[in-house]
Amino acid sequence: MRDTSYAPLQRHYMEEALFEADQAALIGEVPIGAVIVHDGQIVGRGHNLREHANDATLHAEVRAIEEACATLKSWRLEDCQLYVTIEPCLMCSGAIINARIPEVFYGARDPKAGAVDSLYQTLTDDRLNHTVTVHEGLMAKDAGERMVAFFKAARKRQKAAKKARKAKKLAKMTQPLDRSDES
Ligand SMILES: [Zn+2]
Repeated sequence: MRDTSYAPLQRHYMEEALFEADQAALIGEVPIGAVIVHDGQIVGRGHNLREHANDATLHAEVRAIEEACATLKSWRLEDCQLYVTIEPCLMCSGAIINARIPEVFYGARDPKAGAVDSLYQTLTDDRLNHTVTVHEGLMAKDAGERMVAFFKAARKRQKAAKKARKAKKLAKMTQPLDRSDES
């Protein structure tokens, strides 16, 4: 399924999805972005907003599908292509099937939650009444690098916060000792 020969236009749409991923990263969300294209026009776009909205369902693909359905005034996105930076999860694969999207381009695989190739092959399961043409690996490096950088920074923040907590605890512990020394 891996296809490395992409047209400049397809790369352009993935760049738009990567732009969305960057919007997510800017506000501390996991950097995943998506756009939906209809007749050469972007009709829906979105990025992950789970933390800000406190909503488990607000993945980039869901946001883009919602917007595309509103733009086209139809729940059927039959002549559309979805571009997403990371392999869709089970929920988003379900949404793609329910929206009847015929073609999906995604960047990097998600070995822990991917439901297109990694863990399940939902979009190409011919037991379902709708199957999707899938193109994997379009600008995968760009998408993957954003994820790696994001989680590296998050781990660094967690480490710094832990260190600060430890220092505070230590300061509290040594305070009474200092006083006892004085007496
Ligand atoms: Zn998802």
